[in-house]
Amino acid sequence: MTIKEQITNEIDNNREQYIDFFRKVVQADSYNPSGNELNVGILIEEYLKSVDIESQLFPFGDNRVNLIASLNNDNKGKVLLYNGHMDVVPPGNEEEWTKPPLEAFMKRKRYIYGRGTTDMKGGLVAMVIALKIMKSLDIELSGDLILNAVADEETGGILGTKWCLDNALQSIKPTFTIIGEPTGLNPLPKAIILGEKGHLYLKVITKGISCHASMPNMGKNAIYMMSELIENLKYLNQYIPDSKPPIPLKILKKLLSSSFPGTEIFERILGEQPQLSHLLQSLVQFSYSVTMINAGIKGNVVPDTCEALIDIRLLPEQKIEGIIEGFNNLIKKKMGYEVRDNLLGKPEDVYIYIEASDASEGSYWDEWEDSKALEEFFDIVETIYKKKPFYLLYPASADAHYFRNDGYCPQTILFGPGSAGTAHAVNEFIEIEDFLKAIKVYTLFAYNYLKK
Ligand SMILES: [Zn+2]
Repeated sequence: MTIKEQITNEIDNNREQYIDFFRKVVQADSYNPSGNELNVGILIEEYLKSVDIESQLFPFGDNRVNLIASLNNDNKGKVLLYNGHMDVVPPGNEEEWTKPPLEAFMKRKRYIYGRGTTDMKGGLVAMVIALKIMKSLDIELSGDLILNAVADEETGGILGTKWCLDNALQSIKPTFTIIGEPTGLNPLPKAIILGEKGHLYLKVITKGISCHASMPNMGKNAIYMMSELIENLKYLNQYIPDSKPPIPLKILKKLLSSSFPGTEIFERILGEQPQLSHLLQSLVQFSYSVTMINAGIKGNVVPDTCEALIDIRLLPEQKIEGIIEGFNNLIKKKMGYEVRDNLLGKPEDVYIYIEASDASEGSYWDEWEDSKALEEFFDIVETIYKKKPFYLLYPASADAHYFRNDGYCPQTILFGPGSAGTAHAVNEFIEIEDFLKAIKVYTLFAYNYLKK
């Protein structure tokens, strides 16, 4: 029996055990906020200990932790890093859930429901199991396989992945990284993600002058100022540095269509699935949306402040500073208002206040086309899922930018079980087959990449 066959057999023979462990991890509360990732970290530590893999735990805060476990620890040769986050978003209104979000309810032995099943305890647990299989089959490797289970991804990753790269993983230089985020885009085959967009939440307050609404000319209505600003947002493009999408729309379509039997079938599906064309469009565009707005204290008072939140999505190469500066210039040069970075001042001051309330840069693996390892990964996915995957970018942000930017490990991809569409949603679920296939992909690729 070849080692590949041994791996596949091992996974087929232990399905029930893997599903049990996965359900246990889903049942462990790690809602973020407040985190509680230690509940998951302990389960991973225990599980790996059963095959004598030691985990290093890096606790912080209240019941929180980052975890690192590795197979060889000699750091000679290639280093393959598997990264997954242990935190999940809160369930929202639990009454809307058909089954309690932490029950990990199994339906017809085909699906598991629960918060985090898709985003991304499925991918994380599949990675943990891959480590265990490599160890228990005693497969000889020439490099190292590292598992990096992190906290804090859902709130920006500074205390999770970013902390690990700056501290515990600083001296380790991975040669290839996989983040196990869900990359299913139903009804399409699996995607392999090479880059993602960044985001910037801009809090904007227009400061006018309050007065009685019977004599509105005595004041300066902050709502009108905000509406003027919103109207002018269409000129923002003229004030920010030029930026091209990393992969033009035409090529994106080509990459996607390669997983279909023919271009016509692809074009038909694209026509039938408006969501798919919106997704492709969003991958090649910088975008902004005013998502929250708040003003006014009383029906007969002209308000002196109006606050709005603008959600801005950046192309992978766009820098956050460039966008903020462009925003400043739009307000100053095009609209003629003063820009301030604080709200101190007199009641008669008229200005616009801007604050970046949350931001993360996008990223992109520039040289993916030259990577032999990626080609092999693609082939393994195709063999296991029995469908050609395709390369794509991600519209939302993930921890990958910490790996790719600053040159820590540009050769980072996202690939994992679950469908991105059910992430963060009510009745989040994963297909059990998808989860088991991901275990095969992670284990076979680790063997293939690190074998002697
Ligand atoms: Zn996630």
